[in-house]
Amino acid sequence: MNEIKMVDLKGQYLKIKDEIDNAITDVINSTAFINGPEVNEFQQELESYLNIKHVIPCANGTDALQVSMMALGLKPGDEVITSDFTFIATVEVIALLGLTPVLVDVCPDTFNIDPEAIERAITSKTKAIVPVHIFGQSVDMEKIIKIAQKHNLYIIEDAAQSLGTKYTFSDTTTKKAGTIGDIGCTSFFPSKNLGCYGDGGAVFTNNDELAEKLRSIVNHGMKIRYYHDRIGVNSRLDSIQAAILRIKLKHLDEYNKARQKAAEHYDKAFKNHSKLCIPYRNENSTHIFHQYTLLTKNIVRNELQKHLQSKQIPAMIYYPVPLHLQKAYKDERYKQGDFPVTEQLCESVISLPMHTELSEEQLEYITKNILNFV
Ligand SMILES: *Cc1c(COP(=O)(O)O)cnc(C)c1O
Repeated sequence: MNEIKMVDLKGQYLKIKDEIDNAITDVINSTAFINGPEVNEFQQELESYLNIKHVIPCANGTDALQVSMMALGLKPGDEVITSDFTFIATVEVIALLGLTPVLVDVCPDTFNIDPEAIERAITSKTKAIVPVHIFGQSVDMEKIIKIAQKHNLYIIEDAAQSLGTKYTFSDTTTKKAGTIGDIGCTSFFPSKNLGCYGDGGAVFTNNDELAEKLRSIVNHGMKIRYYHDRIGVNSRLDSIQAAILRIKLKHLDEYNKARQKAAEHYDKAFKNHSKLCIPYRNENSTHIFHQYTLLTKNIVRNELQKHLQSKQIPAMIYYPVPLHLQKAYKDERYKQGDFPVTEQLCESVISLPMHTELSEEQLEYITKNILNFV
């Protein structure tokens, strides 16, 4: 049996090696390293995959979030509501721009931001909500839209973990995660469901005016070269990454299916177990399993992780510390106990190996060793 990896980028690469190698060589031969034709082609292909009017590529997912908040004109003092249970990038850019991050707890089943908690956190200073589609399943966006409309708030979706996730509205129309709010953001970090071979990210919107602002902001605030209309940043997707992403985008649905298949295997092994809770499936969203995350009950989670390590099975804790208890984000507004669901999750979740290359044999080996321990 091959070594089990948390994410197997090598195995995935080997299956498309010739195509990728040729694409990289072509960009090198063209020397159009920045803003080459590949970037524009990828942008259009992603627009059509997502069924959205505008994709604005940028340097990474964190920048995508930052430029979104800049484009919406959010100003210091404005409050932005987001989840306490997410990767730090979401809250980092809020703080970096001098905006006030307002953290709220998540739902105990989906681990996604709790709409009722959002309502309670709204003040006269609230300007935006950043729902994070955590681990590959969409937030219940219909509820978020209702709240945003009622209080006149922007919605910036963090779809870094959910590119390809489909959300179904109650009238049965479907939209992809990241294309529902005012702006959607994603990351092409190598381990994401659509990952490149370095850093990359993108912003999506159906709003022409916002798209124009976003394009200018990622390019030093200019539209005409050397004429700067606003303060911007330098945030570009380079041509080599775009060329790689063009190839991988064609496989994204198949990659997500492979993850779902691995998840089914895990589900079957662990469902109805008294000490393990399998990921909840919200009926209005597909789940593309950026992570397969178990909730442990009445076991010492870190002992399980150690046991798996001794069997050469990697397992990770996403996330070990709630945002409101992170040293850099200590704030007198928050204390231990304020977000009981997130605090509980941080103590009891464990994510299993999840990628497109897991074999039946590996899955058997992983589940057998977990069941032996519990
Ligand atoms: C990965 C990730 C980001 C940041 O993406 P980078 O490309 O690493 O900057 C933001 N939010 C979430 C939820 C993520 O998982």
